[in-house]
Amino acid sequence: MPHVAYTQENIDKCWCGQCPVQIGSRCASDLYEAAQRLEGLPAPERLGGLYCSTGHTICHDVQFVNLCNCPACLVWSENGLASNHYCAVGSAEERGR
Ligand code: SF4
Ligand code: SF4
Repeated sequence: MPHVAYTQENIDKCWCGQCPVQIGSRCASDLYEAAQRLEGLPAPERLGGLYCSTGHTICHDVQFVNLCNCPACLVWSENGLASNHYCAVGSAEERGR
């Protein structure tokens, strides 16, 4: 079961912020802005990214039918992941790949 660490280093590599699934999401953009104002890491469900580690998004205004950026991401290759749309299907650990 791949376990992706919830770390700033992985957050910095994550491409969720530029992903077609949530690029138009007001909810996701508000979460990103709030997370940037914090000192330290937000609670995982309040990050708005790194879903391979944190699991389902709490945002409802995302477009799950759009393409996912995960297979182009360093976190994906470094952790041997083999799935995508973790914001929809849950974390890599829950998904098992
Ligand atoms: S998990 Fe994939 S589909 Fe979801 S926001 Fe991140 S890159 Fe986009
Ligand atoms: S694999 Fe996907 S969810 Fe995980 S860090 Fe990369 S872009 Fe974000």
